[in-house]
Amino acid sequence: MATTYKLPELPYAVDALEPHISARVMALHHDKHHAAYVKGANETLDALAQARAKRDFASIAGLERALAFNVSGHVLHSLFWTCLAPRAGRQPDGKLAAAIERDFGDFDAFKTQLTQAATTIMGSGWAALGWEPLAGRLIITQVYDHQSNVAQGSDPVMVLDAWEHAYYLQYENRKAEYFDAIWNVWNWPVIGRRFETAATAAR
Ligand code: MN
Repeated sequence: MATTYKLPELPYAVDALEPHISARVMALHHDKHHAAYVKGANETLDALAQARAKRDFASIAGLERALAFNVSGHVLHSLFWTCLAPRAGRQPDGKLAAAIERDFGDFDAFKTQLTQAATTIMGSGWAALGWEPLAGRLIITQVYDHQSNVAQGSDPVMVLDAWEHAYYLQYENRKAEYFDAIWNVWNWPVIGRRFETAATAAR
């Protein structure tokens, strides 16, 4: 199997985000769910290579969908782990704080919009804060699955996993409690650096 994509290590211990995200949720989420997207992405690259070799593209639509789903799942989870940190939370400062105020009014309005985007997804998906380079501003998007309903070309700066596997073992049907608790563990210094890199990137 191709090893193009690799599962990254968690940047902290599996129980580091407790009590907000339990060790059991983190272990399953990283070691099983994220790992499955990595495996799926590599297997899909293999299947596409075989299809090219045989010039048999009968399954191309399904393979292209699988490629987008699995690669996007890998990208989003890799980003999600780095957006979190133990004993974090509070609020961003510096340039990110200023951009949030400019583009959303104030931090509370931004927090409420991102949380609502996560809470109201019909099915599985993510809420994401992204840098949209054409307008030169931050936007919040509600991503379906891993790859649909995105604003093309925008750079994800901060992502929130709203799939049931992200919370159900711990919070059961009380997903609002999960979306509230996660504000205790956002790694604002890392998110702020991602924002500054995206906002100053040459296009
Ligand atoms: Mn997930």
